[in-house]
Amino acid sequence: MVIFITNTFIDSRTNVVLLTFFKTFFSVSKTKTIPIVSRVEWGAQSPTSITNLTLPVPYVIIHHTYEPGACYSLLECSSAMRSIQNYHQGTQGWADIGYNFAVGGDGSIYEGRGWKAVGAHAAGYNSVSIGIVLIGDFVSQLPPAQQMELTKELIEVGVELGYISKEYSLIGHRQVRSTECPGDALFQEITTWDRFTPAVNTK
Ligand SMILES: [Zn+2]
Repeated sequence: MVIFITNTFIDSRTNVVLLTFFKTFFSVSKTKTIPIVSRVEWGAQSPTSITNLTLPVPYVIIHHTYEPGACYSLLECSSAMRSIQNYHQGTQGWADIGYNFAVGGDGSIYEGRGWKAVGAHAAGYNSVSIGIVLIGDFVSQLPPAQQMELTKELIEVGVELGYISKEYSLIGHRQVRSTECPGDALFQEITTWDRFTPAVNTK
């Protein structure tokens, strides 16, 4: 089982290299082979229920985990995912891990509820957004560049695949709820990203 996971991980990383090569030299459309660690690979529990999103969604909402802290390997990040899911399902009583996707410091994306299911990460906005969490505490420190680039790639792919509106608004969690999330450092950073929207209609 461990060997299988390791092989998949290496394949995923190879895909990133190929993707960069093709993008650089052939200007082809982004492929669908971004490195996503599936729920089976990180050891997810099944959701207790699923509500479908109406696609494409108009918002992308960025979070940090704060806790658990940053992870830098498939094993560490998978463990972080399981602990977040345990907290969300067990303590909070939610149907599943709250986020649609998580991005690890190991250079991989982790599948949460995915592109099609309504998440539980930003009250009032769950049904109109994809929630992406960067694993780690980014109050005073930025995530590694690779982790942020991968987050941007994930958003671009979501747009290409029709899950995220081309005119999407990128916002931080704190813009729709009283919370420090996604941390001061990361929030300042995302204000420079494509389609960041300073003013959000409150719901
Ligand atoms: Zn948040």
